[in-house]
Amino acid sequence: MAVILDGKGLAKKVLVDVKSRVESAGLCPGLAVVIVGDNAASRVYVNNKKKDCAECGIKSEEFALPADAGETQLLTLIAELNARADIHGILVQLPLPDGYSEEKVIQAISPEKDVDAFHMLNVGRVLTGDYSFLPCTPAGVMELLDHYNIDPKGKHCVVVGRSNIVGKPMAMMLLHRHATVTICHSRTVDLASFTQQADILVCAVGKIEMITADMVKPGAVVIDVGIHRKESGGLCGDVNYEDVCQKASFITPVPGGVGPMTRALLMRNTLAAAVSHKAN
Ligand code: NDP
Repeated sequence: MAVILDGKGLAKKVLVDVKSRVESAGLCPGLAVVIVGDNAASRVYVNNKKKDCAECGIKSEEFALPADAGETQLLTLIAELNARADIHGILVQLPLPDGYSEEKVIQAISPEKDVDAFHMLNVGRVLTGDYSFLPCTPAGVMELLDHYNIDPKGKHCVVVGRSNIVGKPMAMMLLHRHATVTICHSRTVDLASFTQQADILVCAVGKIEMITADMVKPGAVVIDVGIHRKESGGLCGDVNYEDVCQKASFITPVPGGVGPMTRALLMRNTLAAAVSHKAN
């Protein structure tokens, strides 16, 4: 039976640490959270982020635009937030409604305030290893691995999924830590033949419970990034947890694994942005 990688517990510790660093440095970090339209899931995410901010002494300011506000109005808002000295981080909740170019909006955020690390400059910095911010989800995964003394060095890590926000930066971070990395995607032929070789398997696919026990090497570390709402109620991930936890050595649960770590790392990035603003 696998050891559970307790993201919920570790995320609490990260928030406590951020709070104490905010207080001891006498900082007042500010995070602008921009939401466009009335996507119910986005509303939940935004509310959670505001709650995390309150918990660690970060001032959050919400900017809610109607879905039909238009890209120009959104870009004008971002330009105003880029110029504000009391705002250190800007987060635009994705997905945006139809009619907005997410790429254009992300690139409009000042790289110094891009606490999601989605801006091209920050993506490049992750690639070179000379970064200011790391994208929150893969950074949260690395934090979990470190906390449980799971060293990727020399291990074969298989990342399923190649999105810009999870799969690709995840692979890059594991590579920086001297893992041998394989990236799989929707055109990978015989996915199981790769996942079965993984010492550390990271699943960021977005397909409900698609990773089954027969696809996992005995004793593997299994990280499930996926989040899905089950028809029967409750949440599950990309991994068939009940079966895979019998075979893996470590596993992240859903909920309570990667999700809370993603939220916590956003707070840490906002603190880092405020510290760097103060230093400059
Ligand atoms: P994307 O949809 O952007 O990317 C999914 C990736 O999975 C793509 O690279 C796609 O390949 C690949 N894929 C799709 N089907 C298959 C398949 N059958 N076999 C192998 N690979 C496949 O998703 P994200 O990376 O944004 O998110 C992935 C999951 O993680 C989602 O469930 C999302 O909700 C969740 N998530 C959770 C977070 C958290 O904090 N826990 C944060 C962010 C996301 P291709 O490129 O070829 O299309």
